[in-house]
Amino acid sequence: MIEKIDVKTVSINSLNYDISIVEKPSIGNEIKDGVINFSDTTIQINKDVSLERAKEILAHEIIHGLFEGMAINNEENVERVTERLLNFIKLNKRVLDFLGDRL
Ligand SMILES: [Zn+2]
Repeated sequence: MIEKIDVKTVSINSLNYDISIVEKPSIGNEIKDGVINFSDTTIQINKDVSLERAKEILAHEIIHGLFEGMAINNEENVERVTERLLNFIKLNKRVLDFLGDRL
């Protein structure tokens, strides 16, 4: 179970999404471990998960955000990209710092 995570916002497609840890993230009547809401630019993560799982969920919802409006934005693609991206991030922190530096 997690109370909070170190990141509060994330910029996706130039929009700031607020990240919150909540009891039961939901879309309509469906309760999920993570939810991204494009209309109010929020990401919710279920508090009853481990920190490691929360990272996977956050990455998953970010990928949904990056894929918004694209035909590839489905669960299968998002799952595959999330797994590869998390692995890439863990192994290439210096590359990400380099790419993220302001020009
Ligand atoms: Zn999903």
